[in-house]
Amino acid sequence: MAISKLEFRGGHVAVEFVNTVAWRGDPARTVDHLDGYSDLLDWAALTGVVDTPERFALRSAADHARAAAGKALSDARRLREQLHAMWTGDGEQREAVSTAFGRAATRRRLRSDGDRVYWTERELGLRTPADRIVIAAVELCTAVAPSAIRACGDTECGWLFLDASPRQNRRWCSTADCGNRARVRRHYRRSRKPAAVATKT
Ligand SMILES: [Zn+2]
Repeated sequence: MAISKLEFRGGHVAVEFVNTVAWRGDPARTVDHLDGYSDLLDWAALTGVVDTPERFALRSAADHARAAAGKALSDARRLREQLHAMWTGDGEQREAVSTAFGRAATRRRLRSDGDRVYWTERELGLRTPADRIVIAAVELCTAVAPSAIRACGDTECGWLFLDASPRQNRRWCSTADCGNRARVRRHYRRSRKPAAVATKT
């Protein structure tokens, strides 16, 4: 499926990145939307991780350094799995995420522009999208309780979301989709039971 068809239900860019794998809980349907470095760039452009000039520059850089682009993609995918594991209860992954953050930080510096100081890459590179994602992920981890990042109640769906609901009781990545499917299943089970009892009596 093309990246442009991907739905964004995670509520935060780092969580959306984890959701570039769909149907994690159903191996028969699992889809990894990051099939090539260009998919990573498409995704990064759609989510605002890179802007349009950066996207074109990185596209050109990837075309000229395919092996490096392949390595940057596999590193980004590894980061994605570390984030997924960390947010689904594997606390040991915090160390791996910390390491990725540390590496990203070495590729950045503080710059100033007039009266403004900002934290940015020393130079745009193939690793920049993943660097920005891990920095956003660490910012998220330190801003919200771990329990605010949750998995969809449909275990086959497997998507994560940042629960920003006032009562912290969001259950589904999408009420209209996964929530509705669960309602239909419940209704189906309920409507079958009385019939089964009726045939016995
Ligand atoms: Zn879901």
